[in-house]
Amino acid sequence: MHYSEKINCLAGFIKKSAHTLALTGAGISTESGIPDFRSPGTGLWTKFDPIKVATVSALKRDPAAFYEINLDRWTRYTGVEPNAAHYALARLESEGLLQGVITQNIDGLHRKAGSKQLWEVHGHLRTCHCMGCKESYPLDFLVNQFNDGTNPPRCKRCGGVLRLDVVLFEDPLGEDFTGAVYAMNKCRLLIVVGSSLQVYPVASLPERARQLVIINKEPTPWDDRADLVINDMAGSVLTDVLAALEKL
Ligand code: NAD
Repeated sequence: MHYSEKINCLAGFIKKSAHTLALTGAGISTESGIPDFRSPGTGLWTKFDPIKVATVSALKRDPAAFYEINLDRWTRYTGVEPNAAHYALARLESEGLLQGVITQNIDGLHRKAGSKQLWEVHGHLRTCHCMGCKESYPLDFLVNQFNDGTNPPRCKRCGGVLRLDVVLFEDPLGEDFTGAVYAMNKCRLLIVVGSSLQVYPVASLPERARQLVIINKEPTPWDDRADLVINDMAGSVLTDVLAALEKL
């Protein structure tokens, strides 16, 4: 199938589907300037092993080193703007053509773009909490301490070490993942955007989709089971799909 046929096909799927969800990964944010994990050459895997540095055991073993390695990378995400792909999904939702977005990203760009029904299954960068007494704080409370030389940042109530509300390797998934699994029960069409579908358990969600479309630059392990695969840039694909929907 040629590119334009694929775009028309996806627009047709969306138009006919009674319940459509998007599942997004780091690839949807690369056009905003945030590197993903696994893109050849530019992915973070090429620089370090995220499984070694972003784990619960690394945080507990040496929280100061954990923040030295990770905090700058994460806080840089907060100044980034959404791109055409994030805006296209928000627009599909506002037009009643998409019922929600399940995202693995912690960058907050779907929310910034206007998506309302959102499951942030790997957490977010808005808040942090104390590992001792569980008191919650805005992220700035942690970042300001780090920038003023207090590392690891600590709880003002009990002095415990603070941690971000992102899901680290070795963490269990939280209530957003439970919500996403529940939402998948109603889903007729799942559109995966910018994910290598290699991080479990999120990568098992396509199993529950009755119809599956994958928009990803590179092949994924799910391609054989997908109804449509578009190996192209998320921003242009979703912009073209919006234009095709207008003509239907
Ligand atoms: P991944 O890096 O494993 O895969 C990203 C996929 O996106 C790759 O297969 C790549 O080919 C594709 N891609 C890159 N740019 C694209 C584009 N413009 N259009 C279409 N496809 C594109 O990412 P993952 O599957 O999300 O898993 C990595 C884990 O790390 C996830 O938990 C993820 O959320 C997290 N992570 C998040 C961020 C973020 O919040 N922005 C950044 C890096 C990693």
